[in-house]
This record gives sequence, structure tokens and C-alpha cells, in this order.
Amino acid sequence: MNSRRWTLPWNDVDSFKLLSGRFEAERLPDDLSERPVPDFGYNVLNQKGLLYDPILDYDESQGERTNIQWPDGFDFAVCLTHDLDHVTRYSLTQTYRRVKQKASAHSRARSISEESLVGSNASDLLRSIAIEGRSVLQTIQHTGTDPYHSLDQWLDAERTIGAKSTFFILPTPLPPYHSTDPEYRFSDSILFEGRKQTVAKTIRQIDNLGWEIGLHPTWYSFDDVDKLQQEKSELEDIVGSEVESVRSHCLHYDIRQTPRVQEAVGFKYDSTLGFNRNIGFRFGTSYPWKLYDLQSNNSTNIVEIPLHVQDTALFRPKGLDLAPDDAIKYVKELTNRVRNVGGVLTLSWHPSKIDKNGWLDSYRQILSFLNDQNAWITTVAEIGEHCRQRAKLTLE
Ligand SMILES: [Zn+2]
Repeated sequence: MNSRRWTLPWNDVDSFKLLSGRFEAERLPDDLSERPVPDFGYNVLNQKGLLYDPILDYDESQGERTNIQWPDGFDFAVCLTHDLDHVTRYSLTQTYRRVKQKASAHSRARSISEESLVGSNASDLLRSIAIEGRSVLQTIQHTGTDPYHSLDQWLDAERTIGAKSTFFILPTPLPPYHSTDPEYRFSDSILFEGRKQTVAKTIRQIDNLGWEIGLHPTWYSFDDVDKLQQEKSELEDIVGSEVESVRSHCLHYDIRQTPRVQEAVGFKYDSTLGFNRNIGFRFGTSYPWKLYDLQSNNSTNIVEIPLHVQDTALFRPKGLDLAPDDAIKYVKELTNRVRNVGGVLTLSWHPSKIDKNGWLDSYRQILSFLNDQNAWITTVAEIGEHCRQRAKLTLE
């Protein structure tokens, strides 16, 4: 009887082409400045049914890439992150800013007459007016503590297992505005650990407690060195030290340009490369690697800590639309796969989703599960620094 050779489905995936971003670049629209980055549906691994496996990490031909030695005998690492998209649920000042920025973004989009632009068509505008009108009414009627003034609860959840995380903070948006620009400013007041204080002071305190502060750049900085530099410098002035890590807001990022832009302003670590509407391994790996500049055909110095699970992708109807118990099962399964290859699992939970039923509680349950897994659970910069010193990260 003839022996049969099985061909593994990932044997025909070119790992260099995947990690350098060439597969992704081939599929992107020419200009992403007004469009969201296409999500998981267009990903080459999704087409092969390989989205939920770190396929490159099983490949022994990857050599040293497969041998990250984690500190203290840990089997793998977990990177905890939060994108601080909103700081206050009920604020007339912030609603006013948001409306003003959206109106400006809408008229700009109309002026370049692109019907398909984000937030530019009439129905988007009407929906937006209805949402903001409801927000004003709710703000006037609201009494008591603002539900978003609860950053301490996220710190407490992590403290319980002795872990820390990275908070990605949005800068002050400057014109031209985009409809996704933040409405909060560093001078706004929030409650933190029972005290009313500015966002700036709160960020400094979180940094002083040992959590990491990273930048969450606005929409239009993905290809603009000056704009990204301005945003980085503003946050560094607030924190009083270098900001090393970055994740683009809405994951608005162009693999053909953004690595080069991030390197030009001196970032060390990025954690943008995941999905908004699904979970999984966008680049087929749980291992960090040095992002590739497709224009100069060289590795950059930016270490990518890929993103694998966002709360929004698990729970929102536009994502997987899962109930918390089912979402936790998915995260456990991905955790098993990352543990098997000794990689990094990166999670992102949005602090402003605290008023969504079960989202924070699911995070606590996942942390409790991870705490029993012999995992090194920490920030983007700690994992990035460890890998920079001990692992082969370049693709050549
Ligand atoms: Zn964001």
C-alpha cells in the first residue's frame, strides 16, 4: 500500500511575503486616507481558513523565531492593552466638540465629493445627528457618577493577578478633523480613585503606578510624520518621559507607509495589526517581529506585538456578536494555541465599554483563567523589550 503524504494547508503560504506585508499590500485600495482598512474578509489567511491558528509559529524552518525564552520559566506571554477612546459618557462640552469635529469632517468629505467616505453621506449625517441629540438629552437627565469614570476598575482587575497593561491615549485632534477624532482633552476633569482631577494628571498617575502609557494616534496621522510627531510629543509632555508604544485608533494603518512613519518619529513598538470585526492571527503569527518597510525593502526598528482579540470584535453585532460565556471559550482556545507555540497573546479591552453588560466581567474571568496558565502577563513595551534583546525579529 502506498504511503500518503499530507500537505499541510499552510505549506503554500510564503512566510516572508506574509510578514513583510506584501500579501496585505497587494489587496489594499490605493489610498486609505479616507477609508477604513479592509478587515478580515480580505485577508489571505481567511481565504484559506487559517485565521485562528498561528500557522507560521509551527514552522520549524523559522529557526530562532520559534524559540523565545520567556523570563522566570513562563511558557508564553500575554499582552494586555486598552484603547482610551472616551473618558466621560455624559458631558455637554465633549458632545459639543464631537459635533463640531464631525460637522467639519462631513463638510470636508463633501468637498472632495466622495460618496463612499466614512461619515460623508446624508444618512450617516442624519444618524449622527440623532445619536448626538439623544446624547444631549441623556446628559441633561443624568445624575450621579459618570459610568466611564472607572479607570481604577480596570487597574484593580489587573492588580488582582499582579499584572499590568498598556493604555493607549488619544492626543488632542487638530484640523483637518475626522469623524472618529476624540472629544476629550487632557484638561478635562474625571474621577480617578475617588478624586476629581484632569485627564493629564490621571495619565501621569497611571504611568507612575507602573502601567504603560502608549499613543493612540488619530485617523490622519497614519501617513504623516509631522502629525504623528506632534501627537507623540504632546503625550510625552503630559507623561514626562518617552512614549515607546503605539496603536492606531480604529486600526487605521497602511502597511505600505505606517511602519516607516512610526520609525521616523522614534516609536519602538506597535500593536495595531489585528482585526476590528474578528479575532485571530492577521499575520499568521503570535510572535513579535520587526515591521518591514515595503518602500526601502528593509526591516524597520519597530517591533510589532500583533493584536489578536478585541472586546469589540467579540461582542459587537458588527463583529462576532457573542454572549460573554461563548466569547470566553474563544479566548481560551486562542490561548491554548499560543501557549502551544510559546508566543504572545494580545488582548484589547476598551475602558469606555464598562457600561456594556458583561464586558468587564468577561475580562476579569479571562484574567483569572490566564493567571493559572503560567503566562507572563504584562505591557507592550515589556514584551517588546524582552523580545528585542533575546529573539531574532528581522525577516531576512
Ligand atoms: Zn480607538
